[in-house]
Amino acid sequence: MSSPIAVPRSALHGARSRRPQGFATALGFNFVAAISYPGTGTPPAPLLPHNRASRTPGDPDLRALLFLSLLALAVWGLVRYLERTRPQDLPWTPLDLAAPLGRATAWKLASLEGDPAWCRRLLTLDGVKFEAVPDRTTAPGCGWQGAVKLTGSEWSPRGPVLTCPMAAAVTVWQRHVVRPAARKHLASNLTRIDHYGTYSCRTVAGSARQSQHATSNAIDIAAIRTVRGEPISVLRDWNGTPERAAFLRDIHDGACRVFGTVLGPDYNRAHRDHLHFDLANWNFCR
Ligand SMILES: [Zn+2]
Repeated sequence: MSSPIAVPRSALHGARSRRPQGFATALGFNFVAAISYPGTGTPPAPLLPHNRASRTPGDPDLRALLFLSLLALAVWGLVRYLERTRPQDLPWTPLDLAAPLGRATAWKLASLEGDPAWCRRLLTLDGVKFEAVPDRTTAPGCGWQGAVKLTGSEWSPRGPVLTCPMAAAVTVWQRHVVRPAARKHLASNLTRIDHYGTYSCRTVAGSARQSQHATSNAIDIAAIRTVRGEPISVLRDWNGTPERAAFLRDIHDGACRVFGTVLGPDYNRAHRDHLHFDLANWNFCR
């Protein structure tokens, strides 16, 4: 005699199959249903309306996963494209002194401080004329380490001694800023760079802070000469003829993409006759 509250076996199987099925159901296969209905091939239709096995590409989670995958692919493609076409904008690509100026150029130049051997190698690869200079300490906080003397004939006075990153930076500035500006505004080519020096054991004027000149990590540019002969002087031409003034402003503004600190006549009276460049700060351009 059957019990009045007997439950059909199919209902029990149905109840059992309502338990979460984990990975198997995620793959779209209901093992319990398959065991419960041997030989029937395809198990019954999913018993849970939100069973994971029923997910389609239209489900929110899968759509998000698909979107993130496509986004990652797009970013990867963009990075690879920029590595080929604009490596100067990417901080992780090697510095090339011959490459055009980019968003990461100044940062890469300043980062050469940590690798003097690589810095000198870059100068050599670029054909810069220089000599390594022995380290020197002249007073507490004064002197230089890993410096080089630039022996190219364009420097006047000859042989400015600079930290290697500064030597690389003035090379980049000369090539990618001064020469194009001379051709653009003066229809001429650079022949000489007059400077007021690089090394001076002193503090910043009006402050107790050590100057970057105290470690040869700075240079003061007084004038640029071209093949036409007459120097274009910061003191005389900053507010001179339109083409000379435009040339000086171009080499000042272009320096801001190369050096950490750039100071000129518009900064204060102490800089009325020169442009000061160093690698100490980040984008301090006046
Ligand atoms: Zn200076």
